[in-house]
Amino acid sequence: MSQMNRQIRLAARPVGALKPEDWSHVSEPVAAPGEGQFAGVTRFISLDPAMRGWLDDRPSYLPPVGLGEVMRAASVVEVTESSHPGFAPGDLVVGSFGVQEQVVSDGRGALKIEPSLAPPATFLGALGMSGMTAYFGLLDVGALKEGETVVVSGAAGAVGSLVGQIAKLKGCRVIGIAGGAAKCALLTEELGFDAAIDYRTQDVRKALREHAPDGVDVYFDNVGGEILDAVLTRLAMHARVVICGAISQYNNETAVQGPSNYLTLLVRRARMEGFVVFDYAPRFKEAAREIAGWIAAGRLTVKEHVVKGSVDDFPAVLQMLFAGENTGKLVLELE
Ligand code: NAP
Repeated sequence: MSQMNRQIRLAARPVGALKPEDWSHVSEPVAAPGEGQFAGVTRFISLDPAMRGWLDDRPSYLPPVGLGEVMRAASVVEVTESSHPGFAPGDLVVGSFGVQEQVVSDGRGALKIEPSLAPPATFLGALGMSGMTAYFGLLDVGALKEGETVVVSGAAGAVGSLVGQIAKLKGCRVIGIAGGAAKCALLTEELGFDAAIDYRTQDVRKALREHAPDGVDVYFDNVGGEILDAVLTRLAMHARVVICGAISQYNNETAVQGPSNYLTLLVRRARMEGFVVFDYAPRFKEAAREIAGWIAAGRLTVKEHVVKGSVDDFPAVLQMLFAGENTGKLVLELE
């Protein structure tokens, strides 16, 4: 193991799209674990659209990453040395350990994973935050009922691909909105969606009229902007619009584009509700158990997009989310 710990730190508050200069690549001596701590090496780093929001100096559900701080990220770490009673060398642990090669932790917020259940990267995706987000956003916030029509945007992504499949498992009709023919083919041919709309080449409103003639009961929104506005025109009575994210707006240099069609909520007696997955932490085990069962039974397909590289690749890999270059959960595997 190297005696130096390579890290990615926030160098400047980004304006608009991220630039290489927003990051600094540094190496610092490896710290030794003290009493009650463990040390480990990072194996997999999660890439999340929310990371863009954590870089802005404004109040949110988590404090912003400070200038000069190691970039916040969930990761899977392999324990190499431990004087913590809960962790032993060889354990794989998931937690918010940041974008760095080596980690020293007191174990707070760290969870040992069960490698026989799934590959390590899956604990950052379907059995991690993406799975929890899809599960609680759809079933709890969306209050999904059998036989309903569900639309999900960002449908070929980490959260969206699970949302659509869980809705199918619950007996719903599912329409996915994604960018590009390959992603749309994946949705209908591999993941069991009933229909897919390519927002890059198709007229979303027109396609929704065709695929959801009786309206949309649940819209799971991952992207915001024009797509949210388009779906709002097609709501069924008592529809639920789940505000999970708005990636189309995260790099805005101007004001967020709000939904001009929100009065459909009034006409259709619908509701629109946002949520933060962390609020469901006390119920994560319940969701993980059910998702693991679906995976084991072959009823849920897990899509992961694993890029192999070093922590220095983190800025470029993060950009893939905003360019739509990932299919499923985007993860950086450290070599
Ligand atoms: P992801 O969907 O795997 O990756 C992002 C995808 O967004 C890209 O692949 C791209 O797919 C799409 N995209 C990028 N720019 C876009 C644009 N301008 N317009 C439309 N689509 C665009 O990411 P994820 O981790 O699953 O996250 C999905 C959403 O969930 C994000 O908004 C994230 O912030 C949110 N989230 C919320 C919570 C919560 O607690 N509320 C927790 C986790 C994640 P295309 O090729 O299809 O464009």
